[in-house]
Amino acid sequence: MTGRPYILAETTWKSVEPTDFEVAILPWGATEAHNFHLPYGTDVIECDGLAAESARRAWEAGAKVIVLPTVPFGVNTGQLDIKLCLNMNPSTQAAVLGDIVDSLEGQGINKLLIFNGHGGNDFRQMIREIQATSGVFVCSLNWYQCVDPTPYFAEPGDHGGELETSVMMHLVPDLVLPVAEAGDGSARRFRIQGLRERWVWAPRQWTSVSADTGVGNPHAATAEKGARYADAVAQRIAGFLTDLAAADLDDLYE
Ligand SMILES: [Zn+2]
Repeated sequence: MTGRPYILAETTWKSVEPTDFEVAILPWGATEAHNFHLPYGTDVIECDGLAAESARRAWEAGAKVIVLPTVPFGVNTGQLDIKLCLNMNPSTQAAVLGDIVDSLEGQGINKLLIFNGHGGNDFRQMIREIQATSGVFVCSLNWYQCVDPTPYFAEPGDHGGELETSVMMHLVPDLVLPVAEAGDGSARRFRIQGLRERWVWAPRQWTSVSADTGVGNPHAATAEKGARYADAVAQRIAGFLTDLAAADLDDLYE
């Protein structure tokens, strides 16, 4: 049995060396509590599963894509008082990302998609900084924002809610506790109007917001909802990967 040729961790030099990879995909998760019923690796598991499925479809459409190992640590400065939430500061992430981009550039792989799975991660300013000095085209997406979830879920939720729980039930049903054991994911809102209305932004102090570490009610989650949504997400991202693989970086604008 051989590994999937678009998953770097499963491939060998024998198959990598003769392949002209066009797009590298860097999934980026987090290690954090997700209500009472989802594992700490939730964001990593979702990134692994959805990036692989997106890449599979793109590969089968002829795009030479390669999924790099998922970075398991995200920005969790608002959850440091929750046991074993592990924070990686944005400045550390920038250093990690810079080293990976430099590696790819030296090897002639000049397109990188950051496949983000954690709300506290934001790579845009890092990408702007890289843009000034690197020949690698770097872009990013948040997988949970690629397809409008409202037709799929009654109440998608932010963190450990119906969307995430459904996707996890689809991907790794054995790692999800019964939703009857989950909290309702209710979240306290800011007292200050501008912050509550979200036209002024500040990070939230998680333990002040949520009693169960979740934000969003998971109780209506099902594996079927997760499967339908994951399918739509993978399909859309696969289309983007195929477009990016074929694109001429010197001719990106209409
Ligand atoms: Zn999550």
